[in-house]
Amino acid sequence: MATWHDLAEQLFPKVTTTIPDLLAKYPERTEPVALRFAPSPTGYLHFGGLYTSFVGWKYAKEHQGIYFLRIEDTDQKREVEGAASLLIQSLKKFGITIDEGPLWENESDVGEYGPYFQSKRADFYKVFIKHLIREGLAYPCRMSEGELNTIRDTQMKSKQIPGIYGRYSTYRDWTPDQLLERYNQEGQTFSVLRFRSHGDTSKKIVFEDEIRGVVSMIDNYNDIVILKGDGLPTYHLAHIVDDTLMRASLVTRGEEWLTSVPLHLQLFDAFGLRAPKYAHLATICKIDAETGKKRKLSKRHDPEANVHFFFEKGYSTQGLIEYILTLASSSFEDWRRENPLLPISDFDFRLDKMNVSGPLFDEVKLNWVNNAYLSAISTPELYQQTLAWAEEFQPEFSTYLKQYPEYAEAAMNIERHTEKDPKRFTLYSDVQHQLLFFFDTEWEKGRAQRIDLLSELNQENLPAFVKDYINNVDLTTEDAWVRFSQLKEIGRKYGYAANNAEFKEGGFVGKVGDLAMFLRVQLCNAKQTPDLFSVMKVMGKARVVERLEKYLG
Ligand code: GLU
Repeated sequence: MATWHDLAEQLFPKVTTTIPDLLAKYPERTEPVALRFAPSPTGYLHFGGLYTSFVGWKYAKEHQGIYFLRIEDTDQKREVEGAASLLIQSLKKFGITIDEGPLWENESDVGEYGPYFQSKRADFYKVFIKHLIREGLAYPCRMSEGELNTIRDTQMKSKQIPGIYGRYSTYRDWTPDQLLERYNQEGQTFSVLRFRSHGDTSKKIVFEDEIRGVVSMIDNYNDIVILKGDGLPTYHLAHIVDDTLMRASLVTRGEEWLTSVPLHLQLFDAFGLRAPKYAHLATICKIDAETGKKRKLSKRHDPEANVHFFFEKGYSTQGLIEYILTLASSSFEDWRRENPLLPISDFDFRLDKMNVSGPLFDEVKLNWVNNAYLSAISTPELYQQTLAWAEEFQPEFSTYLKQYPEYAEAAMNIERHTEKDPKRFTLYSDVQHQLLFFFDTEWEKGRAQRIDLLSELNQENLPAFVKDYINNVDLTTEDAWVRFSQLKEIGRKYGYAANNAEFKEGGFVGKVGDLAMFLRVQLCNAKQTPDLFSVMKVMGKARVVERLEKYLG
């Protein structure tokens, strides 16, 4: 009579390593905590992925721990070529530093607990599987898609608990002899391996979640698939094996896994292993524009689900991280208000202060946070960040920035960090739009628009005014009052009143405000610009004169 042991040997004859061997090879870490980010390489970094990875990283760093990356590529149907390295690049942009992981430096693994791609860990899973079979806790199953569908329909119709358990699992109660016979009949293959659960649908389980506190749930009763036909494990088994051997002390992951915790605890138990701590992060939601209802941020429907969307639009990575902290922690905003200049590393982040219901993604708020960030940094820093963005997304603009760094910085710096600071940049693209006219080639390109705008203005006596202004204006003075007085004085000679009251007295062709608007349009191709005299000062007298002369033809 064959035993479970015999079955295990027949199914996995080559596996001689044991779980204790592996545990000895990957010993306990010496750091106080170890957390991981375990994305599936299905494309770009998702906003939710950024949120999860940031939270884990922040916690690890705050507790002097290790943060490692594991690529969960066992679902090869969903895998997207190159996604893993794209993901790693994105994390780098956000300053999420990985202590261990794949493709990190020189295209190779860094760290002693690898390999860090699940597809390269097949041998480890087999060791664990073999143990379960030997203990009678896993069995090969050949139930067809058709059979599974029939069972699902029957359970639904008769309102029974869904799943493959108890009498619904054809092979669950087969003896090792029967299973072996079938295995040999089928050319020594099996479709999948299932975990043999206790199958008790009335059992409850209580565990502690680091975010949610004590959670009570019905225990797992399903004979879940743990190894697929392609020889790769399902998420559940991989989680047990990898987080054990990679020595994760705390698993921070999406709340979609919360209901799997009873299964995971059962599996850890089946191996005689201690489970890590868990923290299940609430899913990021948004208000649906059409229905007005709260729903999950969706990869398929929401462009903002893709982190690349923010890069392209010109959000700063730091602004996004600040925003993520406002989503992650209710106390962050107060802290930021009190400590506008401290780095986020000084913020004391607590998992038990995290929201248990899905935080809402809110573009208005994100823009506000980003604006506050770009407004707070130094102008040289703003220049550097804008340049990095432009090099990737607006190469032509980047050439101006590189060619005229001081000029560009001076243009960015107008009114910044002053009492009147209009905080005019929310995105790097705002910097671009508000700076382009400073560069002569771009100013020339705006000729048609300029002529159009000028045609809307009162242009009486302007050529004479312009000639005088060119000859007499002094752009060196710092005093705004003096600068305005100069304009008034010169304007008055050509029939422009100094103010409204004067204008109403009659006998004037226009007001000084018309002149200011004219200068604005002629110099900047726009009716709205930062403080006109500051703009002229940054442009320098020669450029101002040249642009005004172009008006004269
Ligand atoms: N690969 C899983 C996912 O992307 C990871 C969950 C986990 O962190 O354990 O959802």
